[in-house]
Amino acid sequence: MMDCCHIREVVQGFFSLLVGMRVTMGNMFVKPHTVQWPRETAPLPPGFRGHIMMLPDEITRYPKCIACTACARNCPSQCITVTGRKPAGAKKKLADCFVLDFTKCSLCGICVESCPVGALDFSRDYALAAYSKDDFNRMNLLEDLVSPF
Ligand code: SF4
Ligand code: SF4
Repeated sequence: MMDCCHIREVVQGFFSLLVGMRVTMGNMFVKPHTVQWPRETAPLPPGFRGHIMMLPDEITRYPKCIACTACARNCPSQCITVTGRKPAGAKKKLADCFVLDFTKCSLCGICVESCPVGALDFSRDYALAAYSKDDFNRMNLLEDLVSPF
C-alpha cells in the first residue's frame, strides 16, 4: 500500500518529466548551433586570435618584417626569435629568421600592436594538431612566404 509520501514523489517525478519533455519538444525544431566538423566549419568571430603570422609586402611578396626586434623585446612571454640582414642591393634589413614558440604564447597581441610596419597579424587557424608539442615550439613564420635571400 503506497503512503502519501510515495504518492507525492510519484507526482513530483511525473511533473519533472513533463518539464523536461517541454524543453526537449521546444528544441526539436530549432536550428542546431553545432556543425558536423570537419565536413562543416562554424564561422569564426571577427576578433578570433589564432597564432600570430607574418604578412607579406603587397608588391614584393617578401615578408614585411624589417627585423627591428620590437615584437621580440615587447613580448611578455619571450617567445619570438627574429634576426635579419640586408638583401643584396637593398636599403633596409629584412627578416631572415622569425621563429615563434607557440607553447608559451598567451595571444596577448602586444607583438601585433608594437610592430611599426604592420608585419604581424593573428591567423584564423584554430585546428592545429600534432603528435608532439615540439611541433609548436619552433614555428617558422617565414616558411610560406617568398624569401628575399
Ligand atoms: S601574442 Fe603576446 S605572447 Fe604571443 S608572441 Fe605576441 S607578444 Fe608574445
Ligand atoms: S616588430 Fe614587426 S618589423 Fe619589428 S621584428 Fe617584429 S615583426 Fe619584424
